[in-house]
Amino acid sequence: MPRIMARAWGFGLAFVAAAALALALRPELRLAARAAWNDPRLLPAFANDARIRYEVEAQACAEAVANLAPLAIAQIESAHGRPFARPPVVGVYASFENYANANGMDDPGIAAVTRAGAALLSPTLCGEERDRLRGVLTHELSHVHLSSWRPLGAPRPPQWFTEGLAVMASNGGGAEGVSDDEATQAIRDGYRVVLDGRRWIDFARLGFEREPPREPTKNALTQRQRLAYKQAGMFVGWLRMRDETAFLRLLRALEAGEAFEPSFESAFGESAPSLWRRFVSGLSQQSSAG
Ligand SMILES: [Zn+2]
Repeated sequence: MPRIMARAWGFGLAFVAAAALALALRPELRLAARAAWNDPRLLPAFANDARIRYEVEAQACAEAVANLAPLAIAQIESAHGRPFARPPVVGVYASFENYANANGMDDPGIAAVTRAGAALLSPTLCGEERDRLRGVLTHELSHVHLSSWRPLGAPRPPQWFTEGLAVMASNGGGAEGVSDDEATQAIRDGYRVVLDGRRWIDFARLGFEREPPREPTKNALTQRQRLAYKQAGMFVGWLRMRDETAFLRLLRALEAGEAFEPSFESAFGESAPSLWRRFVSGLSQQSSAG
């Protein structure tokens, strides 16, 4: 073998060995590699609609998703004030195992995940949790919309904002079972979600100023997460009602890849925590007035 080729081989082998070592050492890299290998775009398109990708065993579910998709897409484009940058992709799974491999979290228990610009739907949304399909699909499309515009590697907005936006834009998708009144009462009683600047956390572990009481008949983590989602969604809805121009200016800035905090302040003239305090005190005053 000529020396130059031997050297190329040596580099190639070293690269493969380094990649294998990195995958073995870093579980999140391993999950990401497995998710890329199981990307929903590799699944067949449903009835020539390239937006819906499905496992053939999930034919009926893909059909339900295809029927809901046009309205859900229109709803998100209207709430975000802009079309998708490119057609959104939705993956529909029949197998919990394949879904977990594709969702990058190795967790079949999450109802849906948006990953690499595609929404992945758990089989539960056409099974036990069929009544959540429309809301969760619409919620995920909000994430897909934002990521369709954001440049690769742009700073991620805090999760309370992206989840609140998705809940607001989907009329409560992802926060099922918590009414506006219940979330408002929780805020008045001091069970307020803490607007956490972290970009990627387990939302069920978000802090509350006071730990909300548990209803023993319901799953504690689900309850907590949905209350947090609902409060974030109400706050984002309030921001939008308060000043729609500022709200849309913030979205356009985030879509352009700008950082969240300065974009928020330049749009609203105030920081998010400061407006959150106004939102909370407004709700509390309504309480004492009524
Ligand atoms: Zn979400």
